[in-house]
Amino acid sequence: MSAIPRTVYEEEHELFRSSVKKFLETEAAPYHAQWEKDGQVDRALWLKAGEQGFLSPSVKEEYGGVGVDFRYNAIVDEECGRSGFTGIGWGLHSDIAVPYIERYGNEEQKQKYLPKCVSGEIVMAIAMTEPAAGSDLQGIKTTAVKDGDDYIINGSKTFITNGQHADLVIVVAKTDPTAGAKGISLFLLEAGTPGFEKGKNLEKIGLKAQDTSELFFQDVRVSKDQLLGEEGMGFVYMMQDLPQERLNVSIIAIANAESILEQTVNYVKERNAFGKSIATFQNTQFKLAELETQVSVARVFLDRCLELHIEHKFDSVMAAKAKLMTTDLQCKVIDECLQLHGGYGFMWEYPVARAFADSRVQRIYAGTNEVMKLIIGRDLLK
Ligand SMILES: Cc1cc2nc3c(=O)[nH]c(=O)nc-3n(C[C@H](O)[C@H](O)[C@H](O)COP(=O)(O)OP(=O)(O)OC[C@H]3O[C@@H](n4cnc5c(N)ncnc54)[C@H](O)[C@@H]3O)c2cc1C
Repeated sequence: MSAIPRTVYEEEHELFRSSVKKFLETEAAPYHAQWEKDGQVDRALWLKAGEQGFLSPSVKEEYGGVGVDFRYNAIVDEECGRSGFTGIGWGLHSDIAVPYIERYGNEEQKQKYLPKCVSGEIVMAIAMTEPAAGSDLQGIKTTAVKDGDDYIINGSKTFITNGQHADLVIVVAKTDPTAGAKGISLFLLEAGTPGFEKGKNLEKIGLKAQDTSELFFQDVRVSKDQLLGEEGMGFVYMMQDLPQERLNVSIIAIANAESILEQTVNYVKERNAFGKSIATFQNTQFKLAELETQVSVARVFLDRCLELHIEHKFDSVMAAKAKLMTTDLQCKVIDECLQLHGGYGFMWEYPVARAFADSRVQRIYAGTNEVMKLIIGRDLLK
């Protein structure tokens, strides 16, 4: 098949990719269907991934990591997206939560937590969303009130990825409810802290092997050492880190779309109707041609986004465009590919059926696609 060669990766990245692929085939493929029934992956998977260096590879060596660039994270994301093993919450951990400690943590916090985040002994989550505030993050109600050298946290969060497995949660709370965005701070909250309870593992229409939870905080006392970065800077930190979160979602989107498209090409060659292969119908060829063209174009754009991110030139508007375009395309590709599978496309045992259910949330989390349009529109019209 004709394709524009990818130039973002070098030979050592491809060697790393082979080991991620092999690991997923042996350590995830045989068990993922059971994890979907369990509502979460086996915790041992995290430790095994840590041993292989797949968790937070960009953490510096002095904190137990390998200190490589984000392309290694991207490879793990691509292979998870390609395989469709959506229960694995490594991306949320490595690309989204852990970087907050790398960027804003003090020396003590880095020493204490980063090595265990790399080994898989600590699973991280980030808790922004609340039952009454998702897109409008400034509307959160969770508070952290100063009490001597401590803070007392009260409130609740919902839809938190890795919520059941999480050992360490970044909690977004208001330290000054009168100060708007400037009154928001981040806290590192350890599981088991008195007053911190994990709610039920939420039942979802997709991502069935991924634990997604409510979290509750009732008079949770944390010392000021658990404040992440400076008080009142939480909103700024989140805005700075959202481009990487949106890149993570985009990388998974295109890898998954490419994989489902490839599987569909194989399927239509084998399936017959009216005495001939469905691949011979003009509708099949036209649909696949359209999808392949759009995915190829998206791939080039996304690789360029990844390069810009490595060069620290990837900004929030580019990230919004990437997230909007790739996740809309992922859902479109999967919907059309499901149609080409006929009734089998609706059967859970077919990857396209799972992808249909799993992909839908990509347009919702990490900022909804409507919020992405707001960001792009504001930039255009400023
Ligand atoms: C499986 C899953 C995992 C998640 N993981 C995490 C996690 O780990 N941590 C975390 O903090 N959160 C997580 N979330 C939450 C997710 O980020 C939010 O659901 C998302 O930001 C949307 O917020 P909301 O659900 O409150 O929807 P709302 O904000 O209530 O939005 C409802 C609708 O209104 C639209 N809307 C809102 N504001 C505007 C506007 N200004 N203009 C136009 N339209 C608008 C939205 O686009 C949407 O269509 C997760 C969600 C899911 C489903």
